[in-house]
Amino acid sequence: TSQIRLILGDQLTHDLPTFRDADPATDLILMAEVRTEATYVKHHKKKIALIFSAMRHFAEELHQRGFTVRYIRYDDPDNAGSLLEELRRAITPKTQEITVTEAAEYRLLTEMQTWQNTLDLPVHILPDDRFLATPQDFATWAEGRKQLRMEFFYREMRRKHGILMQGNDPIGGQWNFDAENRKPPKSGLHIPPPFETAPDAITRDVLALVDTHFPDHFGDLLPFHFATTRDDAIAVLDHFITHRLPLFGTYQDAMIADEPWMFHSHISFYLNIGLLTPMECIRAAERAYFEGHAPLNAVEGFIRQILGWREFVRGLYWYRMPDYASENALNAKRPLPPMFWTGQTQMNCLSQSFGQTIKWAYAHHIQRLMVIGNFALLAGLSPDEVNEWFFIVYADAFEWVELPNVSGMILFADGGVLASKPYAASGAYINRMSNYCAGCRYKPSVKNGPDACPFNYLYWDFLNRHRARLGNNPRLGMPYRNLARMSDEKLDAVDADSRRFLKALDAGELV
Ligand code: FAD
Ligand code: SF4
Repeated sequence: TSQIRLILGDQLTHDLPTFRDADPATDLILMAEVRTEATYVKHHKKKIALIFSAMRHFAEELHQRGFTVRYIRYDDPDNAGSLLEELRRAITPKTQEITVTEAAEYRLLTEMQTWQNTLDLPVHILPDDRFLATPQDFATWAEGRKQLRMEFFYREMRRKHGILMQGNDPIGGQWNFDAENRKPPKSGLHIPPPFETAPDAITRDVLALVDTHFPDHFGDLLPFHFATTRDDAIAVLDHFITHRLPLFGTYQDAMIADEPWMFHSHISFYLNIGLLTPMECIRAAERAYFEGHAPLNAVEGFIRQILGWREFVRGLYWYRMPDYASENALNAKRPLPPMFWTGQTQMNCLSQSFGQTIKWAYAHHIQRLMVIGNFALLAGLSPDEVNEWFFIVYADAFEWVELPNVSGMILFADGGVLASKPYAASGAYINRMSNYCAGCRYKPSVKNGPDACPFNYLYWDFLNRHRARLGNNPRLGMPYRNLARMSDEKLDAVDADSRRFLKALDAGELV
């Protein structure tokens, strides 16, 4: 049969289900840089450049493998603007079927399911088996549980896939070694430089295109060092395993001024568009442990992020969509302040995190969670606006992974489905885990008044505001006991500082 096989921008994997029974002699591969996907929000320029360049390189590789590829460029005057219309344009009288691997996002998968009717041709939508748990696996696991906790899901994934296992038991006798992880940064710590790829001719073309067509999008286009081919993505992974993995666990939560990359892997970009697969990253880390190159606390911690968190949030996304996207359990309504876009703030931790986001379309997990996320939670920012921001600014952002992290992990907007308590913290946490405070106009040790770290009073104000909803949460017993012991005078100061700060924030003043 003659088929059109449609490949999406996040499906750049040579053994994708779409290719498994493909016949280069009869089938047409369709790839398109479509307007609807690229422009429905103002994605970071680097994100668009990464995806388009990786798509073009992938199309080139398919061509070299003997496939006929119909590749529609963004600036092609005939570009029809949507995947459906591009399919319609590609269909010839000989076309008998269309095959595609399921979209990773709810909106697009739902749309895909209507194509068969609209196009009046069989459309085969194949399960995406690059993930290590299917949505059905997750639903089966989740059904009937009062709480969905990543740790228990992760243990089942370890057993099911036989990762770091000795028979039925975890290697090292424990599932989790976080007691040895998450150390504050040491001064004088040597942080290996990240792997960088110089743009080739294909990437340079794409950079010119993005510069011309997306001038008002967020972020800096240059310098551009992302890998855009599978070979380079593998080099990024190897570089991480060799130079960073041994200290990954120890400094997983550490933040140092002007050091965006720390000991993280920087592979989310490639995992999420298909240049790397989760299992090969997990196996590479496991091998490093067996070969004595990296300690168990680092290897287990890294594997847990991919086999645990990444699969867990994806499972949760499909389990809870479409309602998940509109939840707002804490009734947060504050609009996003301008500093999220400009990076202009006197709060050094935020200024560092925003600045790196603008420049690199990257911030590491603790900056997203405990700096930007913590601030968004304490300030009561609207989940819709915060979600849109996280979706726009990071080159690894796709709704299936961004939404649960934002609504579930940072904003508690799902009312505690993903996290057993909000990740709220005062300035003391950021001060312990970073050197940001030394360069800040505010002081983490001061609790009230104009020089106090805003996280300090906003933290108590948050707990106070949500007493009815969170006061009985057993994991918040200690802070609520402390709040109950607070004098009226102190509570008044917290209230006055928070009002003053939030008013200035709402007015767009420099805070
Ligand atoms: P590493 O720290 O080296 O971790 C290795 C890998 O583990 C990552 O590449 C990623 O694939 C996976 N991982 C780790 N934590 C998570 C997590 N919480 N959820 C899912 N996967 C995880 N990750 C995205 O891929 N896309 C997003 O849009 C995204 N948005 C986020 C928004 C918020 C508010 C938060 C708190 C986290 C978000 N994350 C997102 C998760 C995590 O921060 C990034 O995956 C990570 O920072 C990517 O950098 P890295 O590859 O260096 O990660
Ligand atoms: Fe951030 Fe507060 Fe430290 Fe300033 S003092 S860097 S605002 S935690």
